[in-house]
Amino acid sequence: MTLLAIDGLEAGYETGQVLFDVDLEIAEGEIVSLLGRNGAGKTTTMRSIVGADMPHVSAGTITFREQNLLERRSHEIAELGLSYVPEARRCFPRLTVTENIHVAATAVNDPLPESDMFEVFPELDEIRDRQAKNLSGGQQQMVAIARALVANPDLMLLDEPCEGLAPMIVRQVESAIQRINDERDVTVLMVEQNVAAAMAIADRHYILEEGHLVDEVTTERLRADDELRQAYLGV
Ligand code: ATP
Repeated sequence: MTLLAIDGLEAGYETGQVLFDVDLEIAEGEIVSLLGRNGAGKTTTMRSIVGADMPHVSAGTITFREQNLLERRSHEIAELGLSYVPEARRCFPRLTVTENIHVAATAVNDPLPESDMFEVFPELDEIRDRQAKNLSGGQQQMVAIARALVANPDLMLLDEPCEGLAPMIVRQVESAIQRINDERDVTVLMVEQNVAAAMAIADRHYILEEGHLVDEVTTERLRADDELRQAYLGV
């Protein structure tokens, strides 16, 4: 069943239009990635979905479970079951891991039990009383994902979850994303520059080029098609 459908989306900023006629569909249970070079419009697509740092949407529809998200405010979108982990992995630096998760849980009506987060992310258990500012980049990313998960989403949007992380940590983050998809039935849309990370966990990929969706491919095809990767992703 389709969980999220974007149809004919045109969006941009005062400085100009960024997205042109973008169509995208995600079925329940999938992990889908949105790929493209710097400035292709990946983050703008995510922001349009969740109504964050609102780009101006001039045409199109974004439908989540029959609800038109373009008519909703950010907090209503969270209540509908959508969580967003922005690029900068925002945690409260002076709050501990436990407190960061608690604040996120109290922001929604129907959170998951906060203690569940330490089952999903065993890495966080031993550092639960540490302030976020003293954590490594990978640990902060886990906290950011846990904060999104505790809100009990059906769809989680992750903007470059592996950016700037060492390869070993990238694998931990990948495995955490797979776990929340497998064990917690969370559908995932992730933006990635790291094509290898996207291929490691996503089922399907949309490719954005200068604001246009130029292809939609399975992981098998993306892996096999060197020309495609070279043309649109430069890898
Ligand atoms: P990156 O990986 O660099 O974040 P991206 O594919 O996510 O790339 P976007 O961040 O969506 O791309 O940016 C698309 C275009 O929109 C870029 O030209 C960028 O400069 C512009 N842009 C992004 N945010 C804003 C903003 N708040 N105001 C004006 N222009 C913006």
